[in-house]
Amino acid sequence: MPDWVPAGLPAAPGVYQFEADGGTALYVGKSVNLRRRVRGYFYGSGPRSERTAEMLALARRVEWRATGSDLEARLDEARRIVATRPVYNRALRNRARGWYLEIDWRDPFPRLRVVRAPRGGGARRFGPYRGRKAPERIARLLEHAFRLRSCGGRVIPDPAASPCLAHGVGLCTAPCIGAVGLSAYRTQVEAAARWLADPRYAIDLRASLATARDEASGGLAFERAGELQRRIDRLDALEEERATLERPWVERSWMIALPHARPGRSVLIAMVRGRVLPAREVDWEEDDAEVIADICYAARVAELRAPSVLEPSELVPSLIVSGWLMDGAPGGIVLDLDRFSDAEVVSRLAEAPPMRE
Ligand code: SF4
Repeated sequence: MPDWVPAGLPAAPGVYQFEADGGTALYVGKSVNLRRRVRGYFYGSGPRSERTAEMLALARRVEWRATGSDLEARLDEARRIVATRPVYNRALRNRARGWYLEIDWRDPFPRLRVVRAPRGGGARRFGPYRGRKAPERIARLLEHAFRLRSCGGRVIPDPAASPCLAHGVGLCTAPCIGAVGLSAYRTQVEAAARWLADPRYAIDLRASLATARDEASGGLAFERAGELQRRIDRLDALEEERATLERPWVERSWMIALPHARPGRSVLIAMVRGRVLPAREVDWEEDDAEVIADICYAARVAELRAPSVLEPSELVPSLIVSGWLMDGAPGGIVLDLDRFSDAEVVSRLAEAPPMRE
């Protein structure tokens, strides 16, 4: 055990940072047991990978901070990694990104793509989503419901070309052969984008298709009525999948209270429409109503300014907190800021604050 490993590491959650001479951050990690984790680097047969051995050979210091909860440790770890970019943290940087559905309007005949790093410029993004599967499933269903192309590459309409099977079974209006014009095709894509952005649009669209189907049926245009019914069925299938895309952590605002590393204190974190605001600490022995009211006020202001899509740099803390919420918020208290007034938040937290023993 090198003499620069601190002897006083607690057996508690926290963040540690291996540093080289001069304080350059080499690796940032977190653990629910700081003492065991950091000392584990030097026990037994030693570091498990060449990369870790290389990092330890360069390390001359361990900086650490105890936290009262695993969530706070994970947020601090992510913040440090983004701020210092340690060379040995490559894996976490890659893992902590989300997925987006993207429509690139610079393409004359745009299609839906599921991407990691959204492009700037004329691309419209929806997300972020935690996994890739749900947005991919929705993209396929949207293509079918709005008869968009699923083929890759650029489309140059050529009436002499042969469309693929999707056109034959009514799932694509076939811009590839000019069966649909540029403006009509872009209207289809706009409708798909509206479906993603506005759940009420799906209700109106379904109602208008149902009316058109009934009129067609009443006018004995059964083929047309059948085609409209198939579109309604596809919209229904799509609607059933909407729940998999819903991101309650991004659609709503939350006040999160966690135990602090020091007994008798708590850490308060607001997450507003997916954006994690800076943490504040409260000491319940004093009157902290003002601090909590301040955090609520900051959250309300942030809500007014919240953009519809989070920036990639905001994703890491957002995904960490959302994962924690979806796991049932272990060890903390969560209040929905859309449901409770500021005064109720203050009184509920003051009545039963989460604290370490
Ligand atoms: S019909 Fe044409 S545009 Fe549509 S998916 Fe097939 S190849 Fe692409």
